[in-house]
Amino acid sequence: MSDPVAVYVHVPFCVVKCGYCDFNSYAVSGPIVERTVAATVRQMAESPWRGRQAATVFFGGGTPSLLDAPQLERLLRAVLDAHPPVDGVEITAEANPESATLGKLRAMRQMGFNRLSVGVQSFDPEDLRRLDRAHNPEDAEKAARHAREAGFDRLNLDLMFGLEGQTLRAWERNLDRAPSLEPDHLSLYNLTIEQGTRFERLQREGRLRLPDEEVQTAMYLRCAEMLEPAGFRQYEISNYARPGQECRHNVWVWRGGEYVAYGPGGVGCVRELDGWVRRTNLKKPLAFCLAVERGETVWQETERIDPATREFERILLGLRLNEGLPLEGLPEEPIREGVRRGWLEAADGRLRLTREGRLFANDATALFL
Ligand code: SF4
Repeated sequence: MSDPVAVYVHVPFCVVKCGYCDFNSYAVSGPIVERTVAATVRQMAESPWRGRQAATVFFGGGTPSLLDAPQLERLLRAVLDAHPPVDGVEITAEANPESATLGKLRAMRQMGFNRLSVGVQSFDPEDLRRLDRAHNPEDAEKAARHAREAGFDRLNLDLMFGLEGQTLRAWERNLDRAPSLEPDHLSLYNLTIEQGTRFERLQREGRLRLPDEEVQTAMYLRCAEMLEPAGFRQYEISNYARPGQECRHNVWVWRGGEYVAYGPGGVGCVRELDGWVRRTNLKKPLAFCLAVERGETVWQETERIDPATREFERILLGLRLNEGLPLEGLPEEPIREGVRRGWLEAADGRLRLTREGRLFANDATALFL
């Protein structure tokens, strides 16, 4: 049998489209949701990777928790039917507070999900309003409590910093409050302005005033400073976990493992006889459904990755992790330059970003281009 793969299922629906979001997500409801679930189940049933074991499973979006319990169960059954899980498989679902009811989380836990990732973003109601989020801070706290009550031992909270009007002190209040909800994992993202979003337009028109770079850097550094004493360890540029609670799915991808993807806009990357291939599913739910229903290809894009690009991507992803990547076979010149600038360190046969280097991760990686 071939090696296991990580399995990703994309659920592209949300209650509202947040102003900063460029993910493949749509604020729609009605029959298209059920039709997309059915098409995604069928895509798995007809998958060319059927039979390969699932090393990890991740339901992302969009908002997977927006689906009802029977829909989630059909999707998860289809995954496990197509990809028999390895022992102790991690099965994560993303959830947003407004749809993470106790009843639904209990059902999800029972059907086999064993890790929940809740999109909290901030505990400040004004931040949430500006971000267009459909929940308030109390909903987020309730969702974390519900996750525990439903039996999720593994809980991640997503938070964002560098928001309009956010001060360093306000961000510290979030960093104080998050551990009190007893997550074992925190993903802390610096807001980035993506093309085509409402935030990008506001920025272009000079109507989005973000904290200046110095403050954003201080916010980033405060993450490790405040979370390490609380028992969390930074293991990736934006991710912190209690020992042993790292997200195995993401670590798999960052270590360069193969992954397959189902659902509209899902992106998979696998090794084939003639090299690595990245495939992106049709993004629009209706186009995706029609293609599956007609038996046509669901891939909007198929990219054959040449060895040099693959090697660059391996370095780019590997350097995100604190563990870094093996030094063996890496080119010497960019390493020398990265070390000289204080961004890279080579020790114990591995190459890693320094603490300073994590602030310049893109520049450090670009040395290898
Ligand atoms: S809830 Fe998440 S995926 Fe949905 S629009 Fe907002 S940021 Fe995007």
